[in-house]
Amino acid sequence: MEKAPDVGELTPPDRTLMGPGPSDVHPRVLRAMSTPLVGHLDPSFVEIMNEVQELLRYTFRTDNQWTIPVSGTGSASMEAAIGNLVEPGDTALVPTNGYFGGRMQSMAERAGGEVVHVDAPWGEPLDPADVEAAFDEHSIDVFGFVHAETSTGVKQPGVSELTDIAHSHDAYVIADTVTSLGGVELRVDEWDIDVAYSGPQKCLSCPPGASPLTLNDRAMDKVLSREEEPRSWYLDLSLLEGYWGEERAYHHTAPVTNVYALREALRLVAEEGIEARWERHLDVAGELKSGLEAMGLEMNAPDEYWLPSLNAVRVPSGVDDGAVIAHLLDEYDLEIASGLGDLSGEIWRIGCMGYSARPKNVEYVLSALADALE
Ligand code: PLP
Repeated sequence: MEKAPDVGELTPPDRTLMGPGPSDVHPRVLRAMSTPLVGHLDPSFVEIMNEVQELLRYTFRTDNQWTIPVSGTGSASMEAAIGNLVEPGDTALVPTNGYFGGRMQSMAERAGGEVVHVDAPWGEPLDPADVEAAFDEHSIDVFGFVHAETSTGVKQPGVSELTDIAHSHDAYVIADTVTSLGGVELRVDEWDIDVAYSGPQKCLSCPPGASPLTLNDRAMDKVLSREEEPRSWYLDLSLLEGYWGEERAYHHTAPVTNVYALREALRLVAEEGIEARWERHLDVAGELKSGLEAMGLEMNAPDEYWLPSLNAVRVPSGVDDGAVIAHLLDEYDLEIASGLGDLSGEIWRIGCMGYSARPKNVEYVLSALADALE
């Protein structure tokens, strides 16, 4: 190519992000991202790593030593969890009640596991009796479930009951907390979850790139005593231990700026207080839900399983879901999303996460939707 491409300055549109993620990023996080880089082994960065780990433990409600940001998006922390815990020949139990159960299945199979299902329709949570029945029928090593299903707007209730069932059968529990961490009640230690992974771009309101993961000692013992190495070198936790553990030795170059961002996003969580933050999400999303219902719209999830961080709303018959989404984007610079998989064309997904979970955003969504539906 002879001529240099004539590409203009970056001027992205000024959107209000009320979709399934990313959510709006707090200005303090954006400022943290524009501070100068240091080396990923610089003593000052090692200090920052410790702080991020401490803040992550607070946010996950855990004392797990093994609590780190994985370099990459939520799927990287997901694959780190599944790819290290599931060994070739292990049996993994995964749900069928949403899009991300399907991704768990794919990852478990790629790790060499046999997959069995605990079935529930899209839009419903898992029934503990079905989980129990699956454990009675199969010899399960690892049980994965999605705490906050972004594709259906369903929150899995009764997590302790599920972990009790799994542990009484000596299985390990992996929880997908991508759309709950920092916005919806989540208590890793109290609920006896062995491994939880998440993403920063949802209720933490941080750009994607460094994704939270926590493992208890029991899970880490399984990982460290594997007979066969995990198939991914990059996500091999026994190697990452060298960087995030005592040694602080090079494994790969940490995404320094994303770690700065996560630190600031987690500092905001600590300042607000984790429980107050859960309450704020409940209150603000509650306003959104009441406003949607007052407009005659119906939530996809029944009240008992409603997920405040992701409001799945049924598209009224005769309405073109895509046209409404496009109207909000074009006329209001406002992002909401359509349904995925089984719910494609049937729901809108309206996020209420982190810095986006503010009364002013809720008012904006409600008035823009009312206009679009007029
Ligand atoms: N799990 C759930 C429940 C999600 O909502 C997402 C992303 O939306 C992921 C996993 C994967 O995260 P990412 O898209 O950041 O890789």
